[in-house]
Amino acid sequence: FNPVFADLPVTVFETMSRLARETGAINLGQGFPDGPGPADVRAKAAEAVVDGWNQYPPMMGLTELRAAAAAHYARWQGLDLDPDAEVMVTSGATEALAGALFALVEPGDEVVLLQPMYDAYLPLALRAGATPRFVKLSPPDWRLDEAALKAAIGPRTKAVLLNNPLNPAGAVYGRETLEAVARAVEGTDVVVISDEVWEHVTFDGAAHVSALGVEGLKDRTVKIGSAGKIFAMTGWKVGLVCAPPPLMGALSKAHQYLTFTTPPNLQAAVAYGLGKEDAWFHAMRAGLQAKRDRFAEGLASAGFKALPTQGTYFLNIDLAPLGVTDDVAFCARLAREGGVVAIPLSAFYAEDKVTTVARFCFAKDDAVLDAALERLGRFL
Ligand code: PMP
Ligand code: GLN
Repeated sequence: FNPVFADLPVTVFETMSRLARETGAINLGQGFPDGPGPADVRAKAAEAVVDGWNQYPPMMGLTELRAAAAAHYARWQGLDLDPDAEVMVTSGATEALAGALFALVEPGDEVVLLQPMYDAYLPLALRAGATPRFVKLSPPDWRLDEAALKAAIGPRTKAVLLNNPLNPAGAVYGRETLEAVARAVEGTDVVVISDEVWEHVTFDGAAHVSALGVEGLKDRTVKIGSAGKIFAMTGWKVGLVCAPPPLMGALSKAHQYLTFTTPPNLQAAVAYGLGKEDAWFHAMRAGLQAKRDRFAEGLASAGFKALPTQGTYFLNIDLAPLGVTDDVAFCARLAREGGVVAIPLSAFYAEDKVTTVARFCFAKDDAVLDAALERLGRFL
């Protein structure tokens, strides 16, 4: 077996969800919302299945979906995309990440990863043959230090992998940070792989800024979205990749031999969903923001220190004031003795780990959040 994959532990999400099942604890670990997803989008998928949209769709994705994605990103992020040349559909953002790394990286190349990082990044970068270079982001503000990023970029750097909004930190980076990234890569051939799967899950009026719309990044960015996150149906593996044509050429070659295509019925439903009126997206955000606030207030009354969250389904607790220095041991004890599952933040670091933060998913029914808060209060 190849050790990059064979020696990997089971993902922290799977491990913690299993612990929740075994212990009967409330699962605020793995990030998925309660609820079945928007009824009209689900109905479109069902209709498409019944109507017979069940054979291979085109390799690059249904024309309808590529057009809908270009129109959606023009409406929400001011992007000017050619649906025929600059948009591709993949089977989830995960496939897009794998494809981008496999298409770009040759053994010996370096890839810059910002920690904390989503769990798939490092194994995929390693399997592509990359040597990782890490830049650390730290609580409470998770600021990206331009000088640190610049220092991590060298002659062998092929790509920088960004995640904005940032899972697990809940940080949302605006234009200024992206302009700092543009300065850091200026004069190089470095590609920016921009994981923007949480683009619609931003709070307090923050508008998502795509790296693909920023001067200095436009010509070198692979933007990755996920319908699973846009429509709160995380099992729907429909990824949306946008990139300038020269990059897209290479990405499509990777896609054609990874999955080749994505279920057409889901694609048809996502094409419909992306066209929903603005109000639906605003309401989705407002609903999640209310949950964030409910959970943060409950945590504060229970005596926990919640870190600010501007986006994603996640809220982090600072464990340092509780005297905790081992987040893994804390989360294990919280599951077994407190009846609540969270994810230790150190799971998102490869080195120089932050070990005093735990991540909670608040995209749950209010009754579930209240029950978890009650347990957390008793646990302290
Ligand atoms: N990137 C990030 C930052 C994520 O949080 C997730 C899923 N939670 C993914 C990628 C994977 O998305 P998908 O399910 O579309 O593969
Ligand atoms: N993205 C989800 C999270 O951060 C988990 C996805 C998975 O289980 N692989 O919780």
